[in-house]
Parts: sequence; structure tokens; C-alpha cells
Amino acid sequence: MKSLIRSLSVLGLCLLWAAPAFADLNVATSLTDLASVAQLVGGGHVKAQSLCRGYEDPHFVPAKPSLMKAIQHADVYVSSGLELDIGWLPLVLPGSRNPKIQPGTKGFVDASEGVNVLEKPRGTVNRAEGDVHPLGNPHYYGDPKALEVVADHLARVFSDLDPANAADYAANAKAFDAKMDASLAKWEAMLAPYKGTAIVPYHKNFIYFADRFGLKLFGTVEPKPGIPPSPRQINDLVESMKKAGVKVVVYQPYYNAEACRQVAKRAGGVAVEVPLEVGGLPHTDDVFSKFDVMVSSIADALAGTTGGK
Ligand SMILES: [Zn+2]
Repeated sequence: MKSLIRSLSVLGLCLLWAAPAFADLNVATSLTDLASVAQLVGGGHVKAQSLCRGYEDPHFVPAKPSLMKAIQHADVYVSSGLELDIGWLPLVLPGSRNPKIQPGTKGFVDASEGVNVLEKPRGTVNRAEGDVHPLGNPHYYGDPKALEVVADHLARVFSDLDPANAADYAANAKAFDAKMDASLAKWEAMLAPYKGTAIVPYHKNFIYFADRFGLKLFGTVEPKPGIPPSPRQINDLVESMKKAGVKVVVYQPYYNAEACRQVAKRAGGVAVEVPLEVGGLPHTDDVFSKFDVMVSSIADALAGTTGGK
């Protein structure tokens, strides 16, 4: 039993974000992007960790006891909201036995609050048919501007819980927004030559990124969220890509790379592994470097398949 407890705490430590040894607020999040924003807004006053790693599918995180233990002493829990974490968070939160971070308390934050939500479904939603975005598309962290909304929101939450450091949280959020705006101008310039060009993501998780940078989306490799493609569906997608001249497929480390490569190859294009989450691939240690890698790898793929506009 003792060794089990020891290995669980070692695992917990591995999940910790690079942060000060002592913190006024211990923050846990559902996504690495949210932990990165929390750390940048919190600075030296906050220690932030994410339960889902950047290379894990945020829809399907195993609700392990180690996750419950990792948030036992958290002061704040930042959920992605929009039910992205609905498959596991309702098990992990009560399992933590931490009253400070349960939904409805001041320590529980829905990071999607204030974000302009895209793809809100109309009519009835049927989860059995693989619909995993019942409240609209939850992958808003693909848009740099949406993360500014999150940064401002977290600054208000941290100030409320830790008023002594309110001025620092406000200043850090302002600096975050300024750096994001400057970076966005750079990323927009890199993708500007490809405005209106279509790409095919594996999952419906690129709408915020595509909208921000003027790219078009051309279906998905998976026929419906959470359901892998059949050989026939792969054939149909390849044929329609050929007709429309669409050449770039993007996927994350936790999706079926082989299906993506097969589709791209048969359509005469390329499949690129792109990190949508911080920590998904090397050199994506915070939200800024994540977008650096995302934008440059997509721009490179588009340059290679459009004759380098
Ligand atoms: Zn999704």
C-alpha cells in the first residue's frame, strides 16, 4: 500500500506545471492550455497543473485515482466547459474529496464563459450517434483571441480568491493580451498567403483556428466525433478531396495517424501532425510556442502543396 501511495504521488508530481515551490493559489485545469494561461496570469503567486496531458485526447481521459489525488489540495479548478471534459471530470472532482473546487463553489471555473462559442447545435443532440459537442464546439483554445478571454477571466477569479495580489493578476493578464496580440499579427502574416485554402482535420476541433486565420475546413477524417472512419468513408473523402483539390490533412498525436496518412497520400497531399494542445508535441511548452508550432507546420504543409505561394 505504501509503495502504491508513493508511486501515485510521484505520478502526481510529474503532472505539475513548472511553477514556484510555494504558491498562494494551487490551480488545476482540464487542459494544458488552461494551465499555461493560469501560470502566465498567476505568475509567482500560482502553481498550475493540467490533468489531461497535451498528447491525450481531452474528450477521453482515464479517470484514474492519481488525478483525484493530484487535485486534493487545489484552491481552483478550471474546467474547459462546453462538456469537453464531461466524460471524466464528473468522476474526478468528487473523487478528489476537495470541497473547495466542486461545481457551484467559488473555486470552480468554467473557462468557456465569455468565449464566443461556434457550431452551437440546433435541434436535438444524440450522444449515441457520436455527437460529442452538444453545447457547441469546445475547442476554442485553437483561437489565440479566445485565450485572451480566458486570461482576463482567470485574473478576475484569482483576484477574488487572493485579493492581496489582485494588481499583479491584472497586470499579468494585460501583458498576456498584449503579447498574444503581437504574436497573432506574426501568425496571421505567416498564413495570409493561404487565405481561403481548405484543410481536413481528423476531428471537428479546428473551426476556431480556421476562422481566425481565414482557412477553410473540408470535412473531417472521422465521419462523426468519436467514430473512426470505415474504408468506404476513407474512399469517399479521398475522392471528394481530389475533386476539390484539397491536399492537407491535420491530426493530433492521439488520433489515428495511419488513416490520415492514407487519406493524404491517396489524395496526392500530405498529413501533418499538429499540436492543438500545449505539450502535444516537442517545443510546445506554453500557449505561445504551441501556436508557433501549429502555424509554422500548417504554413509549411500549405506551401509544399500549393507550390509555395
Ligand atoms: Zn471535440
